[in-house]
Amino acid sequence: MFRFLPALILVANLRPALALTAAQLGDEIQQASLDPTECYRVLDLNFNKEDVKVYLGSGYLVFTKPIQGTHPGAVFVASTEGGDADVLLLPPTRSERASLATFTNSPNLEEHFKSAAFVFTDGTGDQLLAQLQSNPASKKSPEMGGLIAERWSSVLSNLISSFETRVVYDMLSGRRDAGMFYMAIAGNQLDNFDVLYDPSAQDQILVGKLGYRDNRTYFNTWTAFQARSFRKVAASPGAWYTLDNFRIEAAIQPDLTMQAVTRATLTLLQQQPRSVLTFSLTPSMTVTAATVDGRPAEVFDRASLRANLIQANEDRQFLLVLEPPLDPAVPHEIEIHHAGAVIRDAGNQVYYVGSRGTWYPRTGAGLANYDLTFRYPKGLTVAATGTPEDDHTEGDWRVTHLKTQTAVRFAGFNLGDFQSLVREHNGYRIEVYANRQLESALATRTVPPATPARDGAPDPTGRLDELTKNLLDSLDFMTDEFGPSPIRNLAVTPIPGGFGQGFPGLVYLSTLAYINPGQLPPPLRGRSEQTFYSELLETHEVAHQWWGNLVVPASERDDWLIESLANYSALLLLERRKGVKALDEVLDDYRTHLVARRDTGRTLESTGPIVWGYRLETSLSPDAWRTVTYEKGTWIIHMLRRRLGDEKFLALLREISSHHHSISTEEFRELASHYAPKSPDPDLKIFFDNWVYGTGVPAVKLSYTWRDAKLSGTIAQRDVDEAFTAYVPVEVVTGNERNVYWLPAGSDPAPFSIPLKIPPTRVTLLAADCLMTTSK
Ligand SMILES: [Zn+2]
Repeated sequence: MFRFLPALILVANLRPALALTAAQLGDEIQQASLDPTECYRVLDLNFNKEDVKVYLGSGYLVFTKPIQGTHPGAVFVASTEGGDADVLLLPPTRSERASLATFTNSPNLEEHFKSAAFVFTDGTGDQLLAQLQSNPASKKSPEMGGLIAERWSSVLSNLISSFETRVVYDMLSGRRDAGMFYMAIAGNQLDNFDVLYDPSAQDQILVGKLGYRDNRTYFNTWTAFQARSFRKVAASPGAWYTLDNFRIEAAIQPDLTMQAVTRATLTLLQQQPRSVLTFSLTPSMTVTAATVDGRPAEVFDRASLRANLIQANEDRQFLLVLEPPLDPAVPHEIEIHHAGAVIRDAGNQVYYVGSRGTWYPRTGAGLANYDLTFRYPKGLTVAATGTPEDDHTEGDWRVTHLKTQTAVRFAGFNLGDFQSLVREHNGYRIEVYANRQLESALATRTVPPATPARDGAPDPTGRLDELTKNLLDSLDFMTDEFGPSPIRNLAVTPIPGGFGQGFPGLVYLSTLAYINPGQLPPPLRGRSEQTFYSELLETHEVAHQWWGNLVVPASERDDWLIESLANYSALLLLERRKGVKALDEVLDDYRTHLVARRDTGRTLESTGPIVWGYRLETSLSPDAWRTVTYEKGTWIIHMLRRRLGDEKFLALLREISSHHHSISTEEFRELASHYAPKSPDPDLKIFFDNWVYGTGVPAVKLSYTWRDAKLSGTIAQRDVDEAFTAYVPVEVVTGNERNVYWLPAGSDPAPFSIPLKIPPTRVTLLAADCLMTTSK
């Protein structure tokens, strides 16, 4: 697993003359209430936010009292008699229309509503108010205003508060063109849903709704896409400052709480002075104080629930407010004090870090160097990103100091009561740590209560030697195929649960990977689980030293590529060790998961294109993100390998790892096309449109005859829409000769004809090389 951490990247310039502190602004926002004297009769009011068209027919619009000279919210209520309003949105692509239809039964959004609440930091509220004030037909109606305020003020203030950090940020930075427009609509047919226009987001238009399943809240994105003007000019907001030279001093107490000071050097990338900085940090930590260049900065650190849900972001944003603004001409020193409980206790002295990516304040995922010092109870061991510089004890405390030798995307740590092995190998230094005991959940799950401990209890260090050997094999394999990793020190540490995570220089590996496969809990003793925990997981996480750290995704849309390359790298090593059958077995399992029909009648694969990333995880399909990203992604890479052939495929991966630090899906397609053989799809656009930007797994049927020195026939497909034009591999064997042809399949059976002098002994669809099912 590897989570690209999105940051609230915003463009802002000089903040206006300060009337209020961020905290005072936040308080005002929390108390935002409707002003009955600013209630207007509305008749046929139209406005657009890029692709979103809003029509307010007959009703009333009430504004909030102004905060810092602007109106951050309003409520519309339709007249009881014949009042109406609607919102209209036509998604620009086929997959977005399909997504909208999944949730609303219609490919376009045209919804009538009787009420809506608005939050704006882009000045829309002020514009609407000015428009109404200048229109003599829009009479003021304070009586209606009073009734509406009574009923709606608390709803609106809850909504505004749920975007509090963003609203404060936008108000302080004073740039309306980067501000957002948000509508909570009570639809006639669709019930409550959200419409958001945010010019600082990757997809500026977003429509969706909160969903609930198994005690968890999801934000179900109905549709999200680039707004009209952004589609014309490919502009990305980009980072506006970088952080480097991180120095983190962390003290871990016996109760596992942590107090830390994070220092870093900040460089502004644009020429305007800045007065507000935004950072992400785990909700488990509190910022207690901060300075910039030695001067105290105001810390604004409050929860913004809806904003985080919409971003699918478990972390939260906090702000530092600076007076005077930062000079862009020189670098700045920031110092942030933070404390909290990021370390969890899994029982039996098994600990792990819960917020692995955001235990310290960061912005974006830029490369930086780290200097880390941990002070902690001396019976424990800390393993972290970087090369150990010093390790000593002071009374009851142990102090571990590490430094990175090369810039990395982020730094992680883990701690525990570890047994360890250290190996120096081909220029790498690898430290493998295992827990001395099983975490409580595993201990109780695997050992029946009647069984005396020791007998049959799995050994949490049972695979330590084999694991170390496999990790070294993995490092060798990746180094041979993709070139050496610049990170020479790798710490491998256990984490409870069924997953792993590959940080720069630090791997978290499921505690199940430390147990001999025969001692895994009974439900995990099947072939595929054993292969996962004793082969694939460790290699996958080592592969992230290349895919994820050496090469990073250009954006969240490209996360799938990094995961798929890491996973496929693990499968390549599996194939080298155990043969192609082992690879095909894993791919077969993946296919089975992807095409299985769920209770909705649909397959997991059809949830949406792989580039949607976390958006695939909704209350309708909580497991779609994982299955599509890892399993379909692996299939995509596998199909590409079979198209290019092994030599060219490996050359492609090597080119990427040695020449590309960041890669987008489109860059990947273009690079791959240089290695693609001559075909009707030379630039691989059809391949990517089908498999990457679209959905569908075809059920394919091959019919053929041999006559007049020709093999001719048709390939029919079903279960996919007409636009799907997959090329599928057909193997033709004649005597000792074997050829593979990639031939098109079609909803109307697609004909083919291949010159062939003697009759074939075998003609088959190669289902092992292509994500398809074969139908008789
Ligand atoms: Zn991964």
